[in-house]
Amino acid sequence: MVVLHYTAMDSAARAGAWLCNPEAQVSAHYLIGSNGRITQMVDEAARAWHAGAGRWGAVGDVNSRSIGIEISNTGLAPFPAPQMDAVERLLADIINRWAIPPHRVIGHSCMAPGRKIDPGPKFDWQRLARQGLAVWPAPADPAPPEQFRALAARAGFTADTDDATLLSAVRLRFAPWATGPLNTRDMAILADIAARFPVDGAASPA
Ligand SMILES: [Zn+2]
Repeated sequence: MVVLHYTAMDSAARAGAWLCNPEAQVSAHYLIGSNGRITQMVDEAARAWHAGAGRWGAVGDVNSRSIGIEISNTGLAPFPAPQMDAVERLLADIINRWAIPPHRVIGHSCMAPGRKIDPGPKFDWQRLARQGLAVWPAPADPAPPEQFRALAARAGFTADTDDATLLSAVRLRFAPWATGPLNTRDMAILADIAARFPVDGAASPA
């Protein structure tokens, strides 16, 4: 799978220096500057230390099963067009070469809910989905709210967390504008994603 991050730093140069500092104990396969410059920092076949504790579908050791891409952004600013162009180019290349399905391109916040919020509410997942590089919901019929955790798990959100934190993680990925308690739109989004893109090949609900 591929895990997308933002650096939470004010420049790619500073982020790159941090990712090369052994004291940081973090690394990533790629770093993408705000100008769209792509720097490879770790061989794709080697493990980088970008994901940390968390879970996605059946994968508990995400670092050993993923390529990590750090996108230079403070977390507060929009992602500039040249940078998003570079994200698209790199993602298209990676998922083609490794045969990664688009629903296995995830955010750090998807696998580490409550601990991480990157790439954050300003990241344009819908744009990636239009290019077949990620998935985006086409919500129709809401599922009953009792199915919230089951459908979230089927959509890949299997990290151990409480309902409110889980809802925040689902919304960060699929509905970053949403607020308030769990609603029918959340349940329509999850019903759609869980049915069309079940993680780990779980059978979709009838
Ligand atoms: Zn991250």
